[in-house]
Amino acid sequence: MSLPRLLVLSLGGTITMKRDPAGGIVPALGAADLVAAIPGLADVAEIEARSPLKLPSPSLTPTQIAGVAAEIRAGFKAGFDGAVVIQGTDTIEETAFALDLLIEDERPVVVTGAMRGPEAPGADGPANLLSAAIVAASAAARGLGALAVLNDEIHAARAVRKAHTALPSAFVSAAPGPLGLVAEGRARFHARLPRGPHFELPGGTDLPRVALAKMTLGDDGGLVAATPDLGYAGLVIEGMGAGHVPAEIADMVGYVASKIPVVLASRTLGGPVFTKTYGYAGSEIDLLARGLIPAGSLQGPKARLLLMFALAAGLDRDEVAAAFGVYR
Ligand code: ASP
Repeated sequence: MSLPRLLVLSLGGTITMKRDPAGGIVPALGAADLVAAIPGLADVAEIEARSPLKLPSPSLTPTQIAGVAAEIRAGFKAGFDGAVVIQGTDTIEETAFALDLLIEDERPVVVTGAMRGPEAPGADGPANLLSAAIVAASAAARGLGALAVLNDEIHAARAVRKAHTALPSAFVSAAPGPLGLVAEGRARFHARLPRGPHFELPGGTDLPRVALAKMTLGDDGGLVAATPDLGYAGLVIEGMGAGHVPAEIADMVGYVASKIPVVLASRTLGGPVFTKTYGYAGSEIDLLARGLIPAGSLQGPKARLLLMFALAAGLDRDEVAAAFGVYR
């Protein structure tokens, strides 16, 4: 029987980084080097390795990820059975979600990386890449959208977040928890989530600027107030708790929401933004009545990407709200 065909795209990240004579580790290896270092991969899939980018992941952009999504969509048209994206762990929680929004296909798209470089003792890159390929080649992963696979755990793009700066177990999904795990060379799933909205934006599409502001104790809202004049087309506010801001700035937040779409997320580590519990000034009921759009259970950085793509696709306010409604 022929093996599944996987498209493996490397964008850089710690998994590719080697010591630089000038100090520290920097991106050096490409996808072909990483694949060649794991002989077991040849038993999992037939692999085409490409290295479109060689960047630390804090320097990736949504426009570049839209280009990666376009390359994967073209790869699927050409007959690949799945795709693996290798990149830095710092932004996997955002890029996996961006790919989830930008690729509407049953075939698995799996993002992976490493917390330790290839020259470090206990480097986790090879095991992560092998597990990612096992998931991408697995029939059980079809229809689940983009996934992040690290430390043998399989996370939904909408839920995954980096929760530690150093540990190989840095990735968590608050709710519903990981969708599954890889054990004995097999992807095992114990949960499935419905797919979210999709935006087929061509690579190279101009993306609108969307800002993210996190509320803090005694916040005077200066950054929120400045957002429209700074040329942002949209704003996500990470409110306190279930989606709250200080009472003193509620009027101003409502004013900004009358100028540009403003989405209300929570700065907590999990759970949905509320819609009908608290009634004080600056509460979720107050802010939603002032025109803010609830982000459901999407954390701020993911909500920012959804708002960015929805605005790029020309959605109006009600359509944007409906797109977020999927994540309640
Ligand atoms: N620490 C990061 C990583 O794991 C660096 C990056 O995101 O590129 O790859």
